[in-house]
Amino acid sequence: MIDIPNTAADINPPALKHVYGPVSSRRYGQSLGVDLSVPKTCSFNCLFCQIGPTPATMAERNEIPPISEVLAELDFWRDSGGTADFITAAGSGEPTLHRHFGKVFRWAHEKGDCRTLLLSNGSLFWDPEVRRDAKLADVVKVSLHAWDQSSFERICRPHPTLRLDRIVEGYRKFREEFTGRLDCEVFIIPGINDSDEAATKTAELVKSFSPDYITLNTAIRPPAESGVVACPPERIRALLQLFGPNAYAGGGEPPAVTIPFSETALLNLLSRHPVSIPVLSRTFSKSESEMREILKEMKNRGLPAFAIME
Ligand code: SF4
Repeated sequence: MIDIPNTAADINPPALKHVYGPVSSRRYGQSLGVDLSVPKTCSFNCLFCQIGPTPATMAERNEIPPISEVLAELDFWRDSGGTADFITAAGSGEPTLHRHFGKVFRWAHEKGDCRTLLLSNGSLFWDPEVRRDAKLADVVKVSLHAWDQSSFERICRPHPTLRLDRIVEGYRKFREEFTGRLDCEVFIIPGINDSDEAATKTAELVKSFSPDYITLNTAIRPPAESGVVACPPERIRALLQLFGPNAYAGGGEPPAVTIPFSETALLNLLSRHPVSIPVLSRTFSKSESEMREILKEMKNRGLPAFAIME
């Protein structure tokens, strides 16, 4: 989804086809992208897509590229001294269409010592297998730009089998099951979903699955194909009120991906996968020595802080 110089490829130019970056962002720090969708493979053909039209939307999951090829690139990147805050499944299409996208997150936790991020359009969250593997990520960002099937079809131009009500029901189930951070992106298109009525209905639907943060985005570079234009900043600011206190404008200061420290938050994180002290310290904005003290004290009380990789 993002046009980024492939600096990882500079380590060994012929080697990397699926791994790009790391790219720096205020929200996600240094993020290494893993693209499972080259050439563009997507379940949507959104009016606002910056990548270009989807050749043919699909909703059937596949195994292209072979996941062994992708993991070999990640091994190479790590062995070449690569470091990143996040390993991000994203790229030029929809990552959950790949049947093995969860293996990227397993690799990151076991070998990469990084946190993990899934950037998804959410179209397959009705599928329990997709939700199961999405739960392996520390942060998941999904999207919702519409309020009913007709507006969904107009904005996202999805594969004909996809139903908005099933997707949102999948989001609700995911929220119940997922203990990490769930973000939702809403893309605002003037003349389609920027009226008070449309935005109110969209906001109600978004709030129904309780994302931690909501981002309102709009076109930065209008896509030539659909003629979608940018929503003025003052209108975005007005719409934020409808989405509630955890909604932010895409160009504004986004909330950094740290988690307010609590014993429950720490135990939730450790219940999903082992995490090293440096990663815990970045996640909770605490020094490594503070983290060690906290873990030692929890361990003394018999809590399962032993799950830490040193
Ligand atoms: S979900 Fe929409 S914006 Fe994202 S890659 Fe697919 S068509 Fe483009």
